[in-house]
Amino acid sequence: MREIIMATNNAHKLREIQQILGSGYRVRGLADIGCTEDIPETSDTLEGNALEKARYVWQRYGLSCFSDDTGLEVEALDGEPGVFTARFGALNGYGDDHDSPANIRCLLDKMQGQSNRRARFRTVIALIEDGHEMLFEGVVTGSIVRELRGTDGFGYDPVFEAEDTGLTFAEMGPAEKNRISHRARATRQLIDYLQR
Ligand code: IMP
Repeated sequence: MREIIMATNNAHKLREIQQILGSGYRVRGLADIGCTEDIPETSDTLEGNALEKARYVWQRYGLSCFSDDTGLEVEALDGEPGVFTARFGALNGYGDDHDSPANIRCLLDKMQGQSNRRARFRTVIALIEDGHEMLFEGVVTGSIVRELRGTDGFGYDPVFEAEDTGLTFAEMGPAEKNRISHRARATRQLIDYLQR
């Protein structure tokens, strides 16, 4: 079994990535390598933030690792919230950073009266393997629904309906979400590369 470090302490994300990678890999998080710092994310792109986190681990711990950054890109909002997805509510006066109910309220308010509901989730994964940097991307298209539906998942899942499914991510079980999600698609590319 191969071990791989993901530059995150988000237990949900570690579990989801572990499910996608399968039993051939053991995914370890930042806590497992003794990294308790909050790694800065100062870039204005998903690619920049993903690289920043992976470089941090490589430079301080000398360990090969990968890191992801995800944004929800809404067509009618000119691609917003994008790189600000986690802080969308807080930046607009709705609650704190990473407060999902506040983020969703903010999004639905901004989308009020909008007939173009098209949106996509985009994940960028940065891998640093022995100092060599690689980027992978995964996208899932869909739309922003008008009212929350479903109870599974996290983040914006109750308001994102994946194209051709008729279901929000929160109405799907983890297996179905992991088959089509942005993170699954980016992760599959990572796996293909690791298994080259
Ligand atoms: P992160 O880069 O994975 O931390 O994600 C940034 C923001 O996107 C956070 O607010 C997450 O809640 C949201 N997000 C990321 N992935 C998903 C997902 O699969 N479903 C719903 N929201 C997500």
